[in-house]
Amino acid sequence: MHEMSLAEGILTLVEATARREQARRVKRVTLEIGALASVDIGALRFCFDAVTRASLAEHAALDIITLAGRGWCLPCGLEVPLSALADACPHCGSFQVQPVSGMEMRVKEIDIE
Ligand SMILES: [Zn+2]
Repeated sequence: MHEMSLAEGILTLVEATARREQARRVKRVTLEIGALASVDIGALRFCFDAVTRASLAEHAALDIITLAGRGWCLPCGLEVPLSALADACPHCGSFQVQPVSGMEMRVKEIDIE
C-alpha cells in the first residue's frame, strides 16, 4: 500500500516546515493530486490520520485538490482530457494516448499556528 509511504513523506515535509516556523501545531495541509497519480484518496486520508498521531500535525485537516489528467493522442495529434491512465481518446477512441500531466502529487499549502 503506497499510500502509507506517501503519508509518511507528507508528514516529514510538514514537520520540517512546522519546526522551521516554530509552529505549535499544524492546522491544515493542502495537497494537489493528479487524477492519474493512482493514489487512493480514502486510503491516503486513513494513513495520514495514522502517521500524524502524536505529531505536530495531529488532527490537522487534510484538503485534497484533484488535478485533471491530460494526455497526448498520437492519431489525433491533440492534447485530450484523461480521467484514468488506461482511458481512450475521447475523440477517436484510440488507446495510443501518452499521459502528459496528472501524475503529480505535491503539498500545496501548510497552515500552522
Ligand atoms: Zn484521438
